[in-house]
Amino acid sequence: MKRTVWITGASRGIGAAAARAFARDGYQVAVNYLTQHEAAQALVQELCEAGVRAAAYSADVSDRSQVDQMLAQIEADLGGVDVLVNNAGIAIPLTRLVDYTEEKWDRVFRVNIKGMFHCTQAVLPGMTARHHGAIVNVSSIWGITGGPEEVPYSATKGAVVTMTRSLAKEVGPDGIRVNCVAPGIIDTDMNAWLTPEARETIYAATPLRRLGRAEEIAEAILFLGSDRASFITGQILSPNGGYVI
Ligand code: NAP
Repeated sequence: MKRTVWITGASRGIGAAAARAFARDGYQVAVNYLTQHEAAQALVQELCEAGVRAAAYSADVSDRSQVDQMLAQIEADLGGVDVLVNNAGIAIPLTRLVDYTEEKWDRVFRVNIKGMFHCTQAVLPGMTARHHGAIVNVSSIWGITGGPEEVPYSATKGAVVTMTRSLAKEVGPDGIRVNCVAPGIIDTDMNAWLTPEARETIYAATPLRRLGRAEEIAEAILFLGSDRASFITGQILSPNGGYVI
């Protein structure tokens, strides 16, 4: 029986790389996205042409009814979800807290944390019934160290860390593992705004002297989601090139 992974925010960046990694490992892949329909469809086509069962689902993870509909469709198409990767997330351009609007604050929390709550709560009954499942939450180094001009983003990513640890204790007895990947600075659309000077500053502060690649984060996500991590739960793995040690 093939395993199924549900990856939120998988049309591009880290989520798309995770979709490819799980597909190579033999999983059926449910690709969630918000608006980038063509990118999601192109990824699904690529996976299907490689012989993998995959499908794309447009849904806003911050909306509970859209999440419930998405999961019902995934279960109809691919069967029960064995691994949930809570990857969908947004960052707001660098802004001092004093200048934050309440609307932006709420949006970051709705997507980055409430979205994770919605998807996790939706999959738990099925995983509990099967007494088997893995959840991998995507945080950030800023959720560990805090990041200036990224206070709400950092606060959500810190909450991802504590949500991971709390839930791991709660659902471990149900056969469900919950872990977290907290990436460093990765070369995706989220960091497209970085100037050459800003990149140089990051390289200088990073022992490995470069940004990370989405594929490198995907490997960490795949490991924690797979049975290769069968005795690992409640842990935070931070692939960051040594930026945070
Ligand atoms: P990205 O390239 O900006 O891609 C974001 C993905 O999330 C896209 O697939 C997007 O869908 C989806 N998305 C956004 N809002 C959504 C919503 N409300 N509902 C469903 N999907 C939504 O981001 P990334 O750099 O790959 O980051 C992925 C995760 O890693 C995020 O949680 C981010 O915070 C975290 N992270 C990133 C870095 C980094 O340096 N890049 C570092 C640490 C942690 P559409 O394509 O349809 O818009």
